Amino acid sequence: MHSLQGKTAVDASKILYVDVHCHLEDPEFDEDRDEVIQEAKNNGIICITCGLGLKKGKLSLDISRKHKGQIFACVGMPPYSYNENNFSEVIEFLRKNSAELVGIGEVGLDFYWVKEKTKEKNRRNI
Ligand SMILES: [Zn+2]
Repeated sequence: MHSLQGKTAVDASKILYVDVHCHLEDPEFDEDRDEVIQEAKNNGIICITCGLGLKKGKLSLDISRKHKGQIFACVGMPPYSYNENNFSEVIEFLRKNSAELVGIGEVGLDFYWVKEKTKEKNRRNI
């Protein structure tokens, strides 16, 4: 994982906001993702997008590569989608791409969505 210092596409003196938690990889943005990102850039906003699980984690990293210095990626695994197989895949992906990722997001501390006892165990495993 690396820091954002000196790595943004937006002039540091013009950064007004850092959105540290968004989901630009969400299919909701498939139609206008690039326009949304350009609008953010025009307004001095840089973003950290958090892909949950392997598929969305890869997409987050792809978006950050496409919008280098504007969008940064982290990958997480929420307890509601945990199982040992996909957990191992995510860990491997994190290790393989750690130089480009800025963090690990949305893991294990989900007290809002996870109320069932069985998923509580997943939260602890993560
Ligand atoms: Zn989130």
